[in-house]
Amino acid sequence: MCPHTPPCPSASAPDHDAARTLITHPEQGWSLLCNGIVVFDDTGELLPGGDVIAPHRPTDLFVSPGAPDVTTPVASAQPAA
Ligand SMILES: [Zn+2]
Repeated sequence: MCPHTPPCPSASAPDHDAARTLITHPEQGWSLLCNGIVVFDDTGELLPGGDVIAPHRPTDLFVSPGAPDVTTPVASAQPAA
C-alpha cells in the first residue's frame, strides 16, 4: 500500500520506475521501490510477480575508453599504396 501523495505508479504501469525508493543497498547493487519492484544497478528489474526485466542500460550505446573506435575506418579498408 503506497502512502505517498501523489501515489507511486503501480508495478504494471509503464512508468513503474518512477516509484519512490523504500530501501537501497548500493553495496549490493539493488533498491526496492514502493511498488514492490527490485531495481538492480545494471537496470535489470525483478517484478513483484516474479517476472524479470532484462537490463536495458543506456550506457551500452557508448564506446568505453580504450575500446576500438568503430566509427573510424580501419587501416585495412584503405587502398594499398
Ligand atoms: Zn509510494
